[in-house]
Amino acid sequence: MFLPDLLKGKTILVTGGGTGLGKAMGHRFLELGADLVICGRREQVLKDTAAEFDRTFKGRTGWHVCDVRDPGAVEAMVEAQWRRAPLDALLNNAAGNIAARSETLSTRAIDAVLGIVLHGTAYCTWACGKRWLAEKRRASVLNIVATYAWTGCGYVVPSAMAKAGVLAMTQSLAVEWGGRGIRMNAIAPGPFPTEGAWSRLVPRPDLAREIETRNPLGRPGRHEELANLASYLLSDQAEYINGECVTIDAGRWLKGAGQLNFLERLTDEEWAMMRPAKKN
Ligand code: NAP
Repeated sequence: MFLPDLLKGKTILVTGGGTGLGKAMGHRFLELGADLVICGRREQVLKDTAAEFDRTFKGRTGWHVCDVRDPGAVEAMVEAQWRRAPLDALLNNAAGNIAARSETLSTRAIDAVLGIVLHGTAYCTWACGKRWLAEKRRASVLNIVATYAWTGCGYVVPSAMAKAGVLAMTQSLAVEWGGRGIRMNAIAPGPFPTEGAWSRLVPRPDLAREIETRNPLGRPGRHEELANLASYLLSDQAEYINGECVTIDAGRWLKGAGQLNFLERLTDEEWAMMRPAKKN
């Protein structure tokens, strides 16, 4: 669907790029010609993913061990990366989440989620952004949020708070930095099964089926669908898109929001009974 060199010449950092959706998006960026940098806390995971990518895209994947909650570690990672090759794009994808009754969460648990998703995203964005601005380098940031950034969601409240903050950051910096060559967008994915998210958030197979199929298309998202959207938004072809959050969820959150969408459960007979009686 894209020219094979859509992202050629771009070096893209994907936080949390060693696993799940970050890995899928990184793979697609490589296919489209980009050089890739991934980061996360687990060295072996990063090494394995980089080695896997290297088999097809030799020498085009770098990695840094970095806990994005630590501003010093983020600064050191970005500085080291700049010495090697300045970045052209940042994909803030790393996240942590805890499914729990909110009253049982410790303050440490709240801090952990806010620290990764909200603070970590800000630290990475600032570390890259100030360099881009100083160098007058055109660049692009993409933030992975969730539709509960605007609907809110029980049982994952710190994550919903953090994603809402990331969305506000996206819209705010899009205006502040847009005129200086830095685009800032977000994607809100619906259910895209990954080992990480599913093991944390979906405790039973019947619930997995529910989260994956309760949308107008009746199926979960395919990783390549998300990866194509991310590739387009980071490409120069999307230059006029700034401050936008694109939802890719098959209409799932709208289905939950529309007050009368429950009528889909009516049978043909019930619909027939609902028809207004003809006059005379
Ligand atoms: P995942 O595989 O668990 O990915 C999370 C990644 O973040 C891991 O690679 C993890 O690596 C990294 N990470 C966590 N804490 C970190 C830290 N402190 N510093 C640096 N890296 C850290 O989950 P996923 O499903 O692919 O999720 C990816 C993104 O999509 C997240 O932003 C998530 O909120 C969003 N999302 C996913 C879905 C879905 O259906 N899957 C839906 C909506 C939104 P380490 O553990 O090695 O650090």
